[in-house]
Amino acid sequence: MTVAAVIVAGGSGLRAGGEKPKQYQLIGGRPVIWWTLKAFLDHPGIAHVQPVIGEGHEAMFAESVEGLQLPPAVIGGATRQESCRIGVEAVGRHRPAKVLIHDAARPFAARDLISHVIAWLDRYPAVVPGMPVAETLKFAPGGVVSRTVDRAGMWTAQTPQGFSYEPIAAAHRKAAADAAANLTDDASVAEHAGIVISMIPGRHDNRKLTTAEDIEMADREMTSRNLANLPDIRTGQGIDIHPFEAGHSVTLCGVPISHNMKLKGHSDADAAMHALTDAILGTIGEGDIGTHFPPSDPQWKGAPSRIFLEKAMALLEARSGLLANVDITILAEAPKVAPHVQAMKAFLGPLLRLTPDRIAIKATTMEGLGAIGRKEGIMAFAVATVRLP
Ligand code: MG
Repeated sequence: MTVAAVIVAGGSGLRAGGEKPKQYQLIGGRPVIWWTLKAFLDHPGIAHVQPVIGEGHEAMFAESVEGLQLPPAVIGGATRQESCRIGVEAVGRHRPAKVLIHDAARPFAARDLISHVIAWLDRYPAVVPGMPVAETLKFAPGGVVSRTVDRAGMWTAQTPQGFSYEPIAAAHRKAAADAAANLTDDASVAEHAGIVISMIPGRHDNRKLTTAEDIEMADREMTSRNLANLPDIRTGQGIDIHPFEAGHSVTLCGVPISHNMKLKGHSDADAAMHALTDAILGTIGEGDIGTHFPPSDPQWKGAPSRIFLEKAMALLEARSGLLANVDITILAEAPKVAPHVQAMKAFLGPLLRLTPDRIAIKATTMEGLGAIGRKEGIMAFAVATVRLP
């Protein structure tokens, strides 16, 4: 039994403001109509998806649906009703048993809701999802209340509205022939033809985007829904360099290493831990060490760099984030780092809450090239990967 869907996008939709009609504005990084079409294209119960667009919107539409497998759009009429009739006629060539008609400006049509409408069409020739009215209804022409309307039994109508194909196609022809042109949804067209319509529960999130505020809210919601479908994996990088000065040891990744120089800096000058700290801060957009520990503040003079790392971890964990792994590369002509890698991992592990296999510490020389090659200092790079809920 073939089911077709007609997606109606004919409106100029300028109430939402912006340069484009609302169905072409971006939410979650894609046009509203892309999400709407995708919901129906991805539904296993629907064989054909037919877009109906406004005259002059051809280029905007083509750009908006790049990558989606769609038949050519048909051009709608002067009213929504007319556009729906044209769309219903267009899918007639597939001889569908059922047709769903849906507003392009409702991008949150859930798969379950679509399935429910299709299934319920086995019992009724017309099925309309909607919400029972929960708020008090006022009749207020001109903005002044003339009376309160009894809301008992009142529903707002959503889409997709589902129909047995032949009856709704005939109903649209009849409405056009009768010049009954003020019908704002397809259920009204069915009513006009005396078709029995079943009302089923819709969903709050299946709202029609109308105003600029709707678009803004939908943008936030679509973005967070998309991310929620994926683990929120982020990567940060950090780079640091400190010059040598006279001294007896350098500290790298918290481990003191005997050397004939020390690293010069405001704190203990642990370039590797500084790079690591900046990498972690980078995953959550929290600036760098200097943002949290200004070098102008004398209280950090000679401070052990672990306090910087602990601060970055606290900021990450305040957002329920966890490190997945870190990878540190130290550029140093001397001293030799490799013999100290296990001690460094042992020092960092508890601070990072990572097992040693998720901590990489590598060292390389510069083969005598540049300032590091001339043993003027030590440089470090770090990459951190985190997961956030
Ligand atoms: Mg530094």
